[in-house]
Amino acid sequence: MIKNDFDRVRCPRCRRFYLNKDQVFLDIANTIIHIKCYTLDTLPIKDRGTYKSIMEQYEFDKQEIP
Ligand SMILES: [Zn+2]
Repeated sequence: MIKNDFDRVRCPRCRRFYLNKDQVFLDIANTIIHIKCYTLDTLPIKDRGTYKSIMEQYEFDKQEIP
C-alpha cells in the first residue's frame, strides 16, 4: 500500500482541496475539476461524479513508483 501526499488534490481553478462530497468532472487528461469551476476552455469531459467516487473508480493515488 503506497501512501503519499497526492491523497489530497486541489482544484486547478479555485485552488481549494476537494472534499469527498464535491461534484467534479474528470477530463480526458485525467484532471479533476469542480463542476462549478468548469469553463468552456476546459478539455472534454469523460466522467463526472463525487470526488470520492471518481477517486475510487480511477485510483489516482495508487500509482506504482518504479
Ligand atoms: Zn474548483
